[in-house]
Amino acid sequence: MIESRAGKTLPDQDAPQVAVCSPLAILDGVSFSGESWTNWSKSLEAKPTATWYPRSLADLQVILREAKANNKKIRCAGTGHSWCGGAVTGDYLVLNHSMNKIHEPKETNHGWTVTIETGVTVAELDAALRAHNPPLAVPSNVLPIDVRYGGILTMGCHGPSVNARSMCDMITEMTILNADGDLVTYSEAKDPEAFSAACVNLGLLGIIYTVTLKVETMNTRLRVKDSYPTLENLLDGPDAGLKLKARILNNEGTEFLYWPFKHFMKPDQNDAIWIKEWERTTEPAESVNPHEGRPPMIDNPFFSTFHVGERVLETPDALHFQLGDGVTTVSDAGAAIKADSDFKNIVQMFKELVEKNWAFTTSMPERMGTALEMRIIKASNKMMSPLYDEDPEALYCLVNVMAASGTPGFEDYSIDIVQNWIDKYQAKPHWPKMWEKVPGVATYLRREYGDRLVRFNRVRKTQDPQDMFVNDTWKPLLEDL
Ligand SMILES: Cc1cc2nc3c(=O)[nH]c(=O)nc-3n(C[C@H](O)[C@H](O)[C@H](O)COP(=O)(O)OP(=O)(O)OC[C@H]3O[C@@H](n4cnc5c(N)ncnc54)[C@H](O)[C@@H]3O)c2cc1C
Repeated sequence: MIESRAGKTLPDQDAPQVAVCSPLAILDGVSFSGESWTNWSKSLEAKPTATWYPRSLADLQVILREAKANNKKIRCAGTGHSWCGGAVTGDYLVLNHSMNKIHEPKETNHGWTVTIETGVTVAELDAALRAHNPPLAVPSNVLPIDVRYGGILTMGCHGPSVNARSMCDMITEMTILNADGDLVTYSEAKDPEAFSAACVNLGLLGIIYTVTLKVETMNTRLRVKDSYPTLENLLDGPDAGLKLKARILNNEGTEFLYWPFKHFMKPDQNDAIWIKEWERTTEPAESVNPHEGRPPMIDNPFFSTFHVGERVLETPDALHFQLGDGVTTVSDAGAAIKADSDFKNIVQMFKELVEKNWAFTTSMPERMGTALEMRIIKASNKMMSPLYDEDPEALYCLVNVMAASGTPGFEDYSIDIVQNWIDKYQAKPHWPKMWEKVPGVATYLRREYGDRLVRFNRVRKTQDPQDMFVNDTWKPLLEDL
């Protein structure tokens, strides 16, 4: 069945991932190779028997047919920005990076929507929507622009906007190729239960082919305000929780960033916290970012792009900003914690975290590259979202502890942190982050997701009765359900 065999060329380190994957063979028009795979932070590696590079729905069907014939499992990977092993497989890995078609946006009774193939990156969709007449935008989004919609929607990812909720809440329709090779359409109108399962599906219903997202006309801009108040000012006092809540609800979005050292390579503890706040405005966007080219205000090279001040930017420019030096990769453990009505639990959790992080980061010179991050957004009604809540007004804190990749002891430290969030705050791990090694986590998640996991599995079994899409990350959650 092999039609042709191309020679292997040396990968160009600077080229995008799809270009470095030189095809070794083509089967019924679909390229595949024996390339191994690593994620962005190089914390995961896979040696699939075949890594496939489909370009069309017909290509995906060939891969499905081959997997069935050869009794192989399938996982997909986007840009590899996750830390959990969702994409890892020893069988067939599908990289649909060339499936990046963006259809013409449509105006419906409920506003604008756009249908895309799931290999589309955040940057590609932002550019296409901005060029549309009228200009459109995704109302909230993840920080990086090189990740792909297959990856961010599968894992229940989120941006900072409190009202836009998480990315899965923007989906109006999805098409997924199931284990039988059938393309199944999911929508609220067709089947609300299956649609809810599909919106955060962890790659367990099949290969997601297309997704339709709600987008908005870009007739407002975002005012981005950066400030650097003291931790004491933000977190101390009997009303600290309520003041924090009011601040968050008053903004379109709010993000908190904290790094432990006041000055680079000096031992003083940082007593200030970076706050980024987004506010809608009808003022025109500034043509040039006034912070660009200004000398760093922070003498920590990892955060040297941060400036205190205000500017008005178009939505995508405001939502995606540079975090880090663009070179260093990081490890990240993160979870969702439901905020109490007075936000006292969030204040307490963050204060404890600052303290624990200080103890960790000062215990060895090699541990100094840590950071904490937190956003608070409204709940999701999608059954496998870690922000699931029956109350649509419930607020969830998404908190992350990060360290430069390779920081010694970070894995054990982050396990301890996540365990503590679980024990004390009933936290639910954010799916793409580090959570698999927390002792007893599968039992905890099975209990916490409870009936919703059973319902999800019921939908899953109709699409994948032989567990073709189940790998070692997801198996412990689904066994014997
Ligand atoms: C620097 C950085 C910043 C980040 N910022 C944020 C943030 O602001 N908010 C947030 O929520 N997350 C954030 N993340 C996490 C990131 O958004 C997720 O890891 C996301 O899944 C990455 O997308 P990806 O294209 O790299 O997907 P991958 O990590 O490659 O894949 C993720 C999962 O999706 C599955 N998958 C991918 N495509 C398909 C498909 N077509 N069909 C079926 N399954 C598929 C894979 O099997 C895998 O299980 C960040 C990560 C990094 C490294």
